[in-house]
Amino acid sequence: MQLLKDRILKDGNIAPGGVLKVDSFLNHQIDVNLLNEIGKEFKRLFSDVKVDKILTIEASGIGIACVAAQYFDVPVVFAKKAKSKNIEGGVFSSKIMSFTYGKTYDVMVSVKFLKPDENILIIDDFLASGKAIIGLVDIVKQAGANVSGVGIVIEKSFQDGGQTLRDMGINLKSLAVIKSMDDEGNLEFED
Ligand code: 5GP
Repeated sequence: MQLLKDRILKDGNIAPGGVLKVDSFLNHQIDVNLLNEIGKEFKRLFSDVKVDKILTIEASGIGIACVAAQYFDVPVVFAKKAKSKNIEGGVFSSKIMSFTYGKTYDVMVSVKFLKPDENILIIDDFLASGKAIIGLVDIVKQAGANVSGVGIVIEKSFQDGGQTLRDMGINLKSLAVIKSMDDEGNLEFED
């Protein structure tokens, strides 16, 4: 998605450790017009699959998923990074190792909001090692629901999450794929 790539080149900043900061337009301050174009593009890319619900993870995924959901006309469910499992009626939960914070946390979704045989599109801002998405896929499977696809705003293909998900047979679509970046500020996209 050219608009997104241009914005990453203009306003993204490379932090040490292979982290791209996009907090001026994607995950702290949010450019809603850009999110709108991102939502439309996800709809175009996943127009051939059934989507009953969009699943994402708090916090950065929520805004993206909500704007996209308007084009799919479906609800959004977000996995909570809560400490307590004290959600009425029980939860599906999975452990995720955080790439940005370097620690493991539990994510959970109430059993009320994912049902067997529902078709779930998973959306998130970044794909790095794939741990966050694998945790969400695990939760969808616990519910007996189907993963229709995974939509990612920015995939970093120099980390192995994309390969892992494709090897799992997941229908993965990323809007911008970064092949390489370095501390001197050089950043290259896949074609
Ligand atoms: P993964 O589980 O695939 O290793 O990492 C995905 C999660 O880590 C995303 O939800 C995102 O919040 C965070 N993340 C991974 N890489 C980056 C990055 O380069 N920049 C930012 N801002 N977040 C990242």
